[in-house]
Amino acid sequence: MSEETIFSKIIRQEIPTPLLYQDDLVTAFRDIAPRVESHILIVPNKVIPTINDVTEQDELTLGRMVTVAKRLAKDEGIDENGYRLIINCNEHGGQEVYHIHMHLLGGQPLGSMLSV
Ligand code: AMP
Repeated sequence: MSEETIFSKIIRQEIPTPLLYQDDLVTAFRDIAPRVESHILIVPNKVIPTINDVTEQDELTLGRMVTVAKRLAKDEGIDENGYRLIINCNEHGGQEVYHIHMHLLGGQPLGSMLSV
């Protein structure tokens, strides 16, 4: 089994982070250090350390992450103006927590895609 991170404790509600969404495959909650007005993390319930570790068996889960992002964007009222979905991978990608997660970012103009 892959090593757990703090996200597993949130998913199991051992840390009382308010959940915005949870089903059998994914969980969503607000980022603890929001970079923009609306910053939500969508996380598979199962530990997958990085996108490099994804397999074909995870395709349903990864698809669910996107449909949940779409639903939460609507709930947040940011769907019409637009938003950005990001999954960071490893050091150069800026990944800090080694349990994959999709950032849903919006609520304000996000500027250019990258500042390197
Ligand atoms: P990444 O750099 O893509 O790995 O993003 C990790 C994100 O997790 C960062 O934006 C952190 O602010 C966020 N984060 C870390 N710990 C927590 C936590 N306990 N609850 C919510 N978000 C967290």
